[in-house]
Amino acid sequence: MNIFYAPPGQIHEDTLEITGREAHHASRVLRYSEGDAITVVDGEGGWFEGEVGNVYEDILLVKISKREKRERPLPRRILGLAIIKKRDRLEFAVEKAVELGASEIALFRSEHTVKGSVNIDRIESIALSAMKQSLRCWLPEIRQLDSLDAVLQHYADCDILAAHEKSGVESDIPGDSSGSYLLLVGPEGGFADGEIKNIESSGGRIVSLGKYRLRAETAAIVFLGKFIAG
Ligand code: SAH
Repeated sequence: MNIFYAPPGQIHEDTLEITGREAHHASRVLRYSEGDAITVVDGEGGWFEGEVGNVYEDILLVKISKREKRERPLPRRILGLAIIKKRDRLEFAVEKAVELGASEIALFRSEHTVKGSVNIDRIESIALSAMKQSLRCWLPEIRQLDSLDAVLQHYADCDILAAHEKSGVESDIPGDSSGSYLLLVGPEGGFADGEIKNIESSGGRIVSLGKYRLRAETAAIVFLGKFIAG
């Protein structure tokens, strides 16, 4: 089953428009035509089923027959991931985070980050594909922040947990699924000692994901998976 994305601004009372690359993929690659049943999500919990109407080069008009507003996945989990040097590994981590229902993804430069920045457009298109592939209708916000400090400040109201391979404390799955959790994962070289102190002084907890050393992208998956409530 294919589903397509249309931003909330393109969703109306009885109709919606699929445009751009989404429309091109539907009409030119998957050959959707007038009368075909189609499913669309808006990235903000909206799930729409309907029928294809007029099809143009890069616009598909859809008549909506059924609409749902689906709850955001709980608990709210923000993946705070230090930028990984290898682009394909970073993109893999983002794709898995979306599949696992991360509410937001904050990519940040940490002390041991080697690579400067990321191609945020590419990252966002990977997130969009992962949302559709996993039949989700919530698209996580993706932001890039300059430092761990900036992440800790931005998400000060969350319950902060940092995965650290030198920690002896296993992360407990929180009982309160209505919470918001910032789940921090370091880069290939791990968190610096000063960063660990900074996280703790910000009220964060340092937790272990087991006795073996995981790659950052694996740690992100395990961490998010520990907090899946639904
Ligand atoms: N510092 C180590 C490994 C870093 S792994 C080194 O120098 O090789 C990258 C990140 O994955 C770590 O910063 C941590 O956030 C996470 N991680 C890896 N294994 C982990 C474990 N067993 N427990 C908790 N976090 C882990």
